[in-house]
Amino acid sequence: MPELPEVETTVRCMRSEFLGYKISSAKFYRKNLRDPMPVKQIQAHGVGSTIVDIERRGKYILMHTAKNSFVIHLGMTGNILSRGDKKPAQKHTHFVFELKNPKTKKTKCLHYVDARRFGRLDLLPRENWQEHRYFASMGPEPLEIRSLGKHLYAASTSKKTTIKSFVMDQRTVVGVGNIYACEALFLTGIHPLAAANSINAKTYSLLAKNIKKVLKKAIEQGGTSFRDFKNLEGKASGYFAIKLNVYNRKDEPCKKCDTPIENETIAGRSSFYCPSCQVKN
Ligand SMILES: [Zn+2]
Repeated sequence: MPELPEVETTVRCMRSEFLGYKISSAKFYRKNLRDPMPVKQIQAHGVGSTIVDIERRGKYILMHTAKNSFVIHLGMTGNILSRGDKKPAQKHTHFVFELKNPKTKKTKCLHYVDARRFGRLDLLPRENWQEHRYFASMGPEPLEIRSLGKHLYAASTSKKTTIKSFVMDQRTVVGVGNIYACEALFLTGIHPLAAANSINAKTYSLLAKNIKKVLKKAIEQGGTSFRDFKNLEGKASGYFAIKLNVYNRKDEPCKKCDTPIENETIAGRSSFYCPSCQVKN
């Protein structure tokens, strides 16, 4: 599943590929992904407009035109490709935007490929996209908020939930997926089952640093945790290219103390941790 680093990498690739291009046509090969796609609305208000900005919010990709914002979510297996040809080259291609650069006259095509179809495509008015239900309750961006530690501590005071669920809750902070939560908790020495409100401000500030560190590292490596992640040319990038300390290492020795790594299911997600290095408080 694409996590924040993969989506960020995709957004960076898209910016260098598609900024300044005008959407000259949109072809849909089905009506729905996870939800129906607003095909008529896109034909009427999306086609003919120019892509002026591309950004990420949580795991959503926003492609802005002057008046509207395309919202794309990659779901479990979504993938965006930049191709010269508008003809789908891959199985499970669900829509293709034909793009033209008004200055250079160069054309290219944005292909959306998604085998499991948990992705999403929507079109919102640009002026108030943040208020849409996709975004309204989202917490801050972990790499943009400067005082993440203070934010986490303040948000935790009444939370009896486990720290693992707390940091993975999109209302607390966005984009801390399972892998990154496991790794950041290990680096900070916090047991994943510790209560969120049992952790002090100093430890939260260390946890915040480690969350930023693991996410940045993954982004540097071009997004790593998505088995099906492909770069915009469609080449597969490495899976688990970052060095993982605990994730997916059940029974293997801890890299700090040699204790076998344990795995416990917390809120339905596999949680890997070192029972010696990570204490419950
Ligand atoms: Zn250990």
